[in-house]
Amino acid sequence: MESSSIDSTPSFGRFFLPGPTEVHPEVLSAQNRALIGHRGPAIKELIGDLQTGLKELFRTESPVLISTSSATGLMEAAVRNGARSRVLSLVNGAFSKRFGEIAEACGFEVETLEVEWGQAITADRVRDKLASGGFDAVTVVHSETSTGALNPIKEISEAVREHDDVVLLVDSVTGVGGAEVRTDEWALDFVLTGSQKALALPPGLSFGVASERLMARSTDAPRKGVYFDLVSFRKQLDLLQTPNTPAVTLFYAAAKQLDRIRLEGLEARWDRHQAMSDRCVRWVDMMCEQRGVALSVLAPEGFRSPTVTCVGLPEGTTGPSVVSAMKERGLTIGGGYGKLKETAFRVGHMGDHTVAELDAVLDALGEVLS
Ligand SMILES: *Cc1c(COP(=O)(O)O)cnc(C)c1O
Repeated sequence: MESSSIDSTPSFGRFFLPGPTEVHPEVLSAQNRALIGHRGPAIKELIGDLQTGLKELFRTESPVLISTSSATGLMEAAVRNGARSRVLSLVNGAFSKRFGEIAEACGFEVETLEVEWGQAITADRVRDKLASGGFDAVTVVHSETSTGALNPIKEISEAVREHDDVVLLVDSVTGVGGAEVRTDEWALDFVLTGSQKALALPPGLSFGVASERLMARSTDAPRKGVYFDLVSFRKQLDLLQTPNTPAVTLFYAAAKQLDRIRLEGLEARWDRHQAMSDRCVRWVDMMCEQRGVALSVLAPEGFRSPTVTCVGLPEGTTGPSVVSAMKERGLTIGGGYGKLKETAFRVGHMGDHTVAELDAVLDALGEVLS
C-alpha cells in the first residue's frame, strides 16, 4: 500500500531540506532499469563511466572510491584507514563533533579543537594546535550542515602539510558538487561525500578519494576491518569492480546525474550554489531593514556554505513553528539542528535547485515571518 504522506507526483522545487535533497525526475527514473551482475562486463563499463564523471567532480586524477553506504560509512573508513593513534578533531557543529566521536568509537585517542557553533575554524588555530605535537590525523567538516559554516579547507590543508606525518580527513558531504573542492590541488588526503546532499542523488551511496599517503597508511592499519578496507576498494576499482555487491540501481542514477553535472559544468554549478547562498543572505538583510524582523545568518561573512544557510530567529519565534508554517504552504525547509532547534531554521539550497525556486521559498518565509 502506498503511504499518503509520500508524494508520488512530486513537483520539483518545493523541498529544501539540507539533505536529503530533491532528486530530479530524470535521475530518479534512471534507476528503473534491469539489474546486472557485479562481476560481468556491464558493471565494468558502468563503473568506468562513473569514474570519468567522479574524477571531474572531485578534481582528481586518483580513482574515486564508491561505497554502498551512507556518508557516515566513509567517515568511519577515513579514520579506520587513515589514523594511527592520536586524532585532532576540529569541531564547529554537530557533524564535525560526530566525526570525532566516530574516531573515538573506533579506538583512537581524540583531542578536540572546538570553536563556537556557527563559526569557522581558521588555519592558524589548526597550526597552533598541531605545534603541540603528537597527532597523526586531523578530522574536519568542510561545510558544516548543522550551522551553514564553511571551513577554509585549502588553508587548513596547508597548515596540516607542514607536518610530514599528519593526514587530513575531510567530510565534504554538503561540499562536493556544490562548493569548490580541488582534491589534488589542495592535497587532501581523504575527502568524502554522500549521494543525497549536493549531488542530489537518492541516499545510499558515498564517494571518496584517498591520497597515496592515505593508501600507504591503509596497508597496515590494524583497525580497518573488512567492509571499509580501502586497499580492497582500490584493488577492485582497478578491475572496475567493487569489493562486494553494490547498489547498482543507484549507480544508474549516479551515471545520469554525472552526465547532467557535466552538461551544466562544474564551475557553473559552484556559481549557482554561491548565487543561492548570496540570495539568502540578501533576503535576511531585507527582512531586517525593510520589515523589522531581526533575523541573522549564523555563519560569518566569508565563511558561509554555498549549500546551506542557517538563519537565527528573533525571540518569540521558534524554529519548529516556522518549519510547520512552511509545511502548510507545501514547502519543506530544515529545522535548526541539535542545540539550534528552537532558535533557528535552515534552508538547504543544494543539488539541482535554482535561484528562482529559492525565491519562491524566501517569499513564503517572508510571509510566515512578517
Ligand atoms: C548528512 C551529513 C553526514 C551524514 O551523512 P549520512 O549519509 O546520513 O551518513 C555527515 N556529514 C555531513 C556534513 C552531513 O551533512
